[in-house]
Amino acid sequence: MNPFPQFEELKANETFRFRCRSCGVCCRNVKMTVMVESLDLFRIARHYNLEMTEAAERFTEAATVGWGAPILLMKATPEGNCIFHKSSRCEIQAVKPRTCRLYPLSMGPDDEDAKNFIILKTSERQFHYTGKEHIAGEWVASNMSGEDYAYITTEYRLLRELGRILKRIPREKEADVLKQMLLCRFFMLETSESFMPQYVRNMARLKLTLEQMTKES
Ligand code: SF4
Repeated sequence: MNPFPQFEELKANETFRFRCRSCGVCCRNVKMTVMVESLDLFRIARHYNLEMTEAAERFTEAATVGWGAPILLMKATPEGNCIFHKSSRCEIQAVKPRTCRLYPLSMGPDDEDAKNFIILKTSERQFHYTGKEHIAGEWVASNMSGEDYAYITTEYRLLRELGRILKRIPREKEADVLKQMLLCRFFMLETSESFMPQYVRNMARLKLTLEQMTKES
């Protein structure tokens, strides 16, 4: 079932037409819409030789979804443009977030274990859907590295596990939960080291910490 009604699900072998007009529309009016995942922030921080906390502060805004789960969204100018949209170009083309790389497609978990993914196509900005035909699976594969797949598999699977744990933690501990999730998912990462081993270690620590909070209640 497609859990995202604003998107149309595509099978990997299905095609769609898309023509980038370099109009920059996709990078304008994006206030609080461009998700910056842990791996995205890590790459951007490394690109600018910044610590994770500094990169988060300079380039993102925090929001929460569901029961206190923090997410980071790309900062926008007062007009709503992405802060990296300069002279009609993306200033971080080499390290732009997965959301931007996959556009107009997106991916989500298809099953409980996040072993399979569904491919989704946004219904926004229909004027782009002209020109050359692309195969959905090829579009995704050409914009995702092995590290991206390892990350989203770990992320989706563990977030589901954490979701179940969070339901057993009293609401008065929301601030502690938020702090631990931000620390483990975004901030306790050294950009001089590889991302995945640190991320897997942090998520295991987060799971243990949250389990402990259910016992303290
Ligand atoms: S990061 Fe780059 S591609 Fe993504 S919205 Fe900003 S300017 Fe556009």
